[in-house]
Amino acid sequence: MGKRIAVVTGGIGGLGTEICKALALAGRTVIAVDLDSREQRIAGFKREVEGLDIHFAAADVADHEDCGRLVRDIEERHGSLDILVNNAGITRDSTLRKMDRAQWDAVLDVNLGSAFNLCGHAIAGMQARAFGRVVNISSVSGQTGNFGQTNYAAAKAGLHGFTMSLAREVASKGITVNSVSPGYIHTAMTGAMPPEVLDKVAASIPAGRLGQPTDIARTVAFLSDDAAGYITGANVPVNGGLFMSF
Ligand code: NAP
Repeated sequence: MGKRIAVVTGGIGGLGTEICKALALAGRTVIAVDLDSREQRIAGFKREVEGLDIHFAAADVADHEDCGRLVRDIEERHGSLDILVNNAGITRDSTLRKMDRAQWDAVLDVNLGSAFNLCGHAIAGMQARAFGRVVNISSVSGQTGNFGQTNYAAAKAGLHGFTMSLAREVASKGITVNSVSPGYIHTAMTGAMPPEVLDKVAASIPAGRLGQPTDIARTVAFLSDDAAGYITGANVPVNGGLFMSF
């Protein structure tokens, strides 16, 4: 068997970069997918992952046709698409009273529509090859809701409904579909928050600190391993105890 081919959307972002690295170190050929308009960040990403089996491909995950082209290209060039990590995500925070339709649509399209766009094109190949691992990056906001995030929380909660439904459809074909729900993680996004706000956030987390991108990356690597075939339709919270449920 050749190396498993993994796609990580939002692959050059804070969590995406660590996920790409973890999968490459686990022996996968990794394709980081992101928007092509961020030349400097793409160049920085390439420098950071130099020497690892990580490649870059441009695509807009909110564009159904573009996702179809991407999946066809990868299957032609690499022979398969075995692991799909739907990680690309955006926020457009606003209270509902002030939220306009564009903020709603953008967040739903990138965070939730992307799972339909990519899984829709990739699942047939996974079924034909009788193997697949899909990991959808959700959020604690999808589990608890969050002030100013009706759009984001709806998309992230929807992502888990998608996860459970697709998991049922493909479980007998060697394909698992799971979601991972990060809490507060040290990334550029949280780095931009005022230190005193971050201190308060950390104090509200039972672990007493924010998580690291590697905490998420390790979880994705675990769920996408060949040996994780009996875990499907699950949501794995990685939040330092911020929200506990069963
Ligand atoms: P990030 O650094 O902003 O990374 C997201 C990446 O997705 C960016 O490179 C972004 O590009 C890209 N992207 C946006 N729209 C796209 C599109 N239409 N097509 C392709 N790529 C697109 O964010 P992150 O913190 O790593 O978050 C990764 C995932 O984890 C997201 O789904 C997020 O909701 C989730 N999450 C993060 C945290 C956290 O604490 N960081 C907590 C809970 C959940 P641009 O920068 O150019 O927009």
